[in-house]
Amino acid sequence: MRHTPTGYWLEEAGAVEPAAPLAGDVTADVAVAGGGYLGLWTALRLKELEPGCDIVLLEAGVCGHGPSGRNGGFVNSLWADARVLLESFGREGGAAVYRASTESVPAIGDWCERNGVDAWYLAAPKVKVATTPAQDGAWAPVAAALAELGAGDDVRELSAAEVAGRCASPVFRSGLLVPGSATVQPARLALGLRAKALEAGVRIHEHTRVRRVRPDGTVETDGGRVRAGAAVLAVNSATGAFAGFRNALAVASSHIVLTEPVPDVLEEAGWTGGEAISDHRTLLHYFRTTPDGRIAFGWGGGAMGYGARPGGRLDVDGFCAESAHATLLRFLPQLAGRRLTHAWGGPIDVSPSHLPVFGSRGAVHHGFGFTGNGVGPAHLGGRILASLALDRRDEWSSLALVDPPRKSFPPEPFRYAGGALIRRALIAKDAAEDEGRRPGALTAFVASLPKRLGLHLPR
Ligand SMILES: Cc1cc2nc3c(=O)[nH]c(=O)nc-3n(C[C@H](O)[C@H](O)[C@H](O)COP(=O)(O)OP(=O)(O)OC[C@H]3O[C@@H](n4cnc5c(N)ncnc54)[C@H](O)[C@@H]3O)c2cc1C
Repeated sequence: MRHTPTGYWLEEAGAVEPAAPLAGDVTADVAVAGGGYLGLWTALRLKELEPGCDIVLLEAGVCGHGPSGRNGGFVNSLWADARVLLESFGREGGAAVYRASTESVPAIGDWCERNGVDAWYLAAPKVKVATTPAQDGAWAPVAAALAELGAGDDVRELSAAEVAGRCASPVFRSGLLVPGSATVQPARLALGLRAKALEAGVRIHEHTRVRRVRPDGTVETDGGRVRAGAAVLAVNSATGAFAGFRNALAVASSHIVLTEPVPDVLEEAGWTGGEAISDHRTLLHYFRTTPDGRIAFGWGGGAMGYGARPGGRLDVDGFCAESAHATLLRFLPQLAGRRLTHAWGGPIDVSPSHLPVFGSRGAVHHGFGFTGNGVGPAHLGGRILASLALDRRDEWSSLALVDPPRKSFPPEPFRYAGGALIRRALIAKDAAEDEGRRPGALTAFVASLPKRLGLHLPR
């Protein structure tokens, strides 16, 4: 098994011919920087609202080849952030954001259907499981917050027997069912969006890195400039490189390994409903299946060291392919002797509040901070940013996610040093709990620091 920079989904979706880089100066109504889900949904929404809108989209690599084409394909609302929504925006504001995020899940499926994009969209429930006694009932505060937001029926507790009915594993205990969820083949969705944006007349330039965005909406690259009435910054983990955003986000990473097709294993475990599963560790494990019976197994919170070794063995945080396989075997012992075929990873744009952030500075409109949950929320982000770019005061641009009170991460070098220390403590805490031990007092204290500082970690 080799670690590849882009992973299985992009390989399965097939190559695309890159669009020509920007060469020279052009004008447009809106310039979009970044061709992931957020930039592409924004461009398509702009065309939907104003078909005559002239849009130039600039992408440093190839659209959809970043995290949007490499993620786990879990399509979630902001249900897991219910507590933060309530605390940050109150009952009414929080409920409006939550409802808007739930609408995006089926809207992505509808869009695929209407546009003939086969992104393997599957309306399948998310199952959050406890895998250690320490995780039992860990979802209770979120379930209570959802009830306060008027959405208590959106989740349902599952007994251990009910969890086993969806996927039998020796380590799965009780859990929480989130029916309004889905999965996609992420790269097929991203490349489908790219194809439809091109068809709609969006002028896409690839291998075109934006170097600077001026407050008047002018966007500068090495090869030319776009003079636009409005600019949209949708560059995910690269946002911190732009003036004024340095401490607005932190960058973590997530990684995935994929098995060979194992339909017999899925059959034996009774995992045939396409459920997207994750545990309740701080640095969570997540699992899903593919139509040909593979299992994608991912985990969050690693370092960025993997990127330096495309083609080499996956080895992040001591979490090499062998240990990924060993972890998978704990969940599904039937996988003994079965091969992992692919491994890959990508950056995660972590927001201090755990919620995505949208807003405007002059004629520049930004969105970032999906914190590992961007497949569904980037669709909502596209609606928000299109309304902001067109200066529309509507239900999207007035959501409380827009221009929230500013929160920042500590500046460097404290962020790197503190982050490394906290990450080590989180790994130690999760490992102790996996082994049925209580973490040591110092580990528990350091692991609790982000919460004490009002920072929310990716799940
Ligand atoms: C391994 C992994 C697993 C994940 N699993 C899930 C999941 O299961 N469910 C979920 O909801 N989320 C998941 N995520 C997160 C999800 O992929 C992202 O939140 C989502 O793709 C965000 O879309 P985006 O458009 O903001 O970012 P991106 O896909 O990163 O797009 C940003 C684009 O901007 C481009 N760019 C960067 N700098 C510049 C520049 N200066 N000029 C021009 N272009 C630039 C990049 O090349 C990139 O194409 C996962 C992420 C990873 C890495």
